[in-house]
Amino acid sequence: MQIFKIGFLLNRNNYRTSPVNSNYNNKPTDNYNLLKQPVGDTVTFSGKIPSIVTPTMEDLINRTKAVDILRYNVLRLAKYDLPCPVCGRLMLDVDKFNEFENKVLSTTNPDEILNFIGELKKYLHPIEKKMYSIFREERYFHPDWSLYDILKYNLPSSEKKIVQTQSKIFGEIGILSRDLPPDTRKEVQNLINETFTRIFDTRETSRFSRRIFINKIKDIFIPEGVRQNLEEVFKNEYLKDKPNSKGAKTFEDIRAFIEEKMEYTISNWIYTPEQDKIIEKAVELPIARNNIDAFIVKYAKRDYKGANPDQKIALRMLSNSLATVEHIKPQFRKGATEPKNLAVECAADNNGRGSEHIIEQISENPSMLFNYPKYMGRLCKIHGMGKVEKSYITQQNKTFRDESFGILNADLSGLRQTKKKKLNKFKSDDLGITPTKNERRAARKLKLKIKSAKRKNNKI
Ligand SMILES: [Zn+2]
Repeated sequence: MQIFKIGFLLNRNNYRTSPVNSNYNNKPTDNYNLLKQPVGDTVTFSGKIPSIVTPTMEDLINRTKAVDILRYNVLRLAKYDLPCPVCGRLMLDVDKFNEFENKVLSTTNPDEILNFIGELKKYLHPIEKKMYSIFREERYFHPDWSLYDILKYNLPSSEKKIVQTQSKIFGEIGILSRDLPPDTRKEVQNLINETFTRIFDTRETSRFSRRIFINKIKDIFIPEGVRQNLEEVFKNEYLKDKPNSKGAKTFEDIRAFIEEKMEYTISNWIYTPEQDKIIEKAVELPIARNNIDAFIVKYAKRDYKGANPDQKIALRMLSNSLATVEHIKPQFRKGATEPKNLAVECAADNNGRGSEHIIEQISENPSMLFNYPKYMGRLCKIHGMGKVEKSYITQQNKTFRDESFGILNADLSGLRQTKKKKLNKFKSDDLGITPTKNERRAARKLKLKIKSAKRKNNKI
């Protein structure tokens, strides 16, 4: 029972689920304001988090406070223009986001809202930046249109473009599926037919989800017998782990546990080259995060439930850039909430990762190989400014290195040599995201490394 309580307490202040998934109601709470008081100018991590072996209620409260302060300290690093270790884009710190939110919620005037977004332009991710120019341009020609009107005006053409792109990709998956064994091929083709019917039906209101589609495909690739075996294994694991706790052992609890375990196993499964090709193709399906038409379709069709759509759209424009606390080793894999396991990452990448192993995250974001050293380089600079402890940086790098089997490992010699030489290597003004030819070549090599690391990981 205690374990569930702790989970609840920790999740209450979990920034990673706050502004992106919720309806943007992450107003600064009293708790949040309190957190600002006990910390000095330099981020230190000396505060101990109480052990939770046999916790009393007081222990739990203390622990929650300590975790909050720790999270807040980690997030504060984003104040110093820190690039995301995954996508390399500048992260927006929580205070700036809250200030922005307050301003946006105080007006319904589209020009004012656009001005507030404009003030934070350097934090916009590429799709949001494009969207911002579209809004500006359309407002110039149609001064009476709201941002929502602009999205709705663009909806028909964007929807056509999206369906075109989707059908092209589904067609290619269909062709790739010809290399699969007959029964798997049939299942993949059935899934494609089903999805085709859905996206061509204009009456269809439920949105297509790339994540669900990919999960369905992966699901097909796990042999039926293996799946049943695993379910049995996870069920026993659950019953062994949490014996005799009255009331907690409901059917739903077991189901949720098995599903979470299953999802994790599926994301770490080693697929055959033919299956891999299909999954990679499915990853090309457009989503709001990387395709302007998908963005327009998603937010033009969204039900805003009586809220002001323009305000919601404005918050969405910046919520992806928000700095969040990332567990390098995911909590789901028993990664601890302690300084050496906590990194700063943009909300978009944090949400995209879920509870994936870091190896999986690198394989989906090969640019991490170049962005991670930039992130670490910037942390070294922040240390040079006297704003963060050295041990936090070295320990964090160690966690990244261990978790990624040595694939991510930054050169921290700059920490010892006072400033200059080594640090210049990581110029933060180059937050470029378009990979060069060399970077792409390195990324291909990386893929092979990842495969072997995955194998090691599966053995553990
Ligand atoms: Zn990012």
